Amino acid sequence: MSRAGPPSAALAAAAAIVFLALGALLGLAAGRSSGITVGDVAVQIELDRDAFSGGADPIESWIRRSASIVAGYYGHFPVARLTVRVMAERGDGVHGGKSFANPEAYIQVRLGQDVTEAQLLSDWVLVHEMAHLALPDTGEAHAWLSEGLATYVEGVARVQAGNRSEADVWAEEMRQMPRGLPESGDRGLDRTHTWARTYWGGAMFCLLADVDIHRQSHNRFGLQDALRAIVRDSGGLAADWPIERVLLTGDHAVGTTTLEDLYARLKDSPVTPDLMGLWRELGIESEDSSVRLSDSAPLADVRRAIMRAR
Ligand SMILES: [Zn+2]
Repeated sequence: MSRAGPPSAALAAAAAIVFLALGALLGLAAGRSSGITVGDVAVQIELDRDAFSGGADPIESWIRRSASIVAGYYGHFPVARLTVRVMAERGDGVHGGKSFANPEAYIQVRLGQDVTEAQLLSDWVLVHEMAHLALPDTGEAHAWLSEGLATYVEGVARVQAGNRSEADVWAEEMRQMPRGLPESGDRGLDRTHTWARTYWGGAMFCLLADVDIHRQSHNRFGLQDALRAIVRDSGGLAADWPIERVLLTGDHAVGTTTLEDLYARLKDSPVTPDLMGLWRELGIESEDSSVRLSDSAPLADVRRAIMRAR
């Protein structure tokens, strides 16, 4: 569910034409919008209220809940104003989303017209898209940072908000994160643009950074504090920052050089960290289709601190 800003006026115009055509096809009309306020963020919702069999209210609740989860993680919502455009498609479920900030924050999500409240309650897509709003645009070569952060933050933020279980998040990471390890021919995160390296290789970078910041600061700080400083200083996705500035800003906030050091190691060479060893130290053991969490493991306090709401 990548975020992307149209890189040129021509492309933006082309995108706008496609968008209008799609809107016409789906029977969406301008003016079917409503505004809600979540904390101190004004969210404009554009949707066809008659397009969904469950009505518009569960969708508004989902947008409100997702914004609250992201605001909780970052300390406040990444932007002051946001427009969410909801597109109705056949079927049920949440189909996907995209984030833009040029310059106003704008998220487009595609929902099945028969989406259920349970599907909205367990959705990851909108939290993922909203997390994209908190990171400056660092360019396509570093898409792994943007997608990795959104992937990693989604799980932690939802646990902190009570919307997902800690075991579920670790179980998913144990299942999926090994896909983000380098395969033969890999040239590092900046130069290997496969889906697995972009999403799960990027998420692995985030997990390694989070654990290291917690260890070095004796659980005073984590990646979350670095990310809060980055969005505060940059304003988020609307800013164009070199990746070095992003990482330096995060490191300064937590008093380590974790992000810069990790980037230097992983950016242009295929590094394979011992993920199984790391999870064992954190007190996470695979059990059936889920995990068992142990509080006597050497880094169990780090694991708990990562997932604790702050
Ligand atoms: Zn994404």
